[in-house]
Amino acid sequence: MKRKKLVYVGIALSLLIGHYLGSSISMFHEIRDVPMAKQEYSADESSVTYVGHATALIHLNNLNLLTDPVYSETVCFIIKRHVLPGIRFEDLPVIDAILISHEHWDHLDKATLKRFDKKTPIIISKGLEKKLESMGFTDVRGLDYEEHTTLGNVRITAYPVAHRVSKSSSYLIEGDKTIYFVGDSGLTDKFRFIGDNYDVDATLLPIGAYRPRLWFIPGLSVAMRTQHMHPEDIPSAIEMINPDMMIPMHYGVFKLTYEPVDEPLAIFEEVVRKNDLKSKVRVLEPGEKYSIRGEKG
Ligand SMILES: [Zn+2]
Ligand SMILES: [Zn+2]
Repeated sequence: MKRKKLVYVGIALSLLIGHYLGSSISMFHEIRDVPMAKQEYSADESSVTYVGHATALIHLNNLNLLTDPVYSETVCFIIKRHVLPGIRFEDLPVIDAILISHEHWDHLDKATLKRFDKKTPIIISKGLEKKLESMGFTDVRGLDYEEHTTLGNVRITAYPVAHRVSKSSSYLIEGDKTIYFVGDSGLTDKFRFIGDNYDVDATLLPIGAYRPRLWFIPGLSVAMRTQHMHPEDIPSAIEMINPDMMIPMHYGVFKLTYEPVDEPLAIFEEVVRKNDLKSKVRVLEPGEKYSIRGEKG
């Protein structure tokens, strides 16, 4: 009898593991190339260039800030990217600082970080400094929530998000323009603090990885959505942050969860249409640049 039970447990486990593998992982797809013109970043321009997933190049006060850089073809040993980074690594301008939201492998990728000059300042959540210092980085700035650091005339402040991991931060970046970057987060009323206290010109928000592998088990979808926003959560996030422009991220590059890789953007575009948000939203192709114009205030 005991043995029979073990067999059943074995079959159930195999089904679950098979489901997990089959739904999430593909090692055999082609990686889509994105032939983009090499971008120029003029001194007085404020811009956001989308590289892919949570990686973006923010050009502000003539500084180049890179968020959550991931250039690896495969991460976590088996998850292969679907789209090449929108800026080739060799074409990146000199990076004045790297911002890391949290330590999940699709945000903190050691293989990519190793390729940067070890003097590059790294801004990271307090408590995670050692991870970078042990790699040889000499200017690692761990920020607690509401703490800030400065680079030239740019001030970067960490704010909490809804993402259950040792420490996860969003960053408010204030210079000639104000940009709010969120790496991973569920929808949270913490966003309201940003909208109430700052005049945000552009915000980068994640829209993918909301459907758990075992989505048919009741409760799991709800649980996942508390960690990663669904595109349908974005109108509320926009209402709270009140930015001039919202740029979606964290979709289409790595298939982390059960939803098809192109689903988040398709749902997002539908949500934008239904909620009449077209003028507030800018979808960027990898490599595409959004120039932030208009006066602040
Ligand atoms: Zn995460
Ligand atoms: Zn993520």
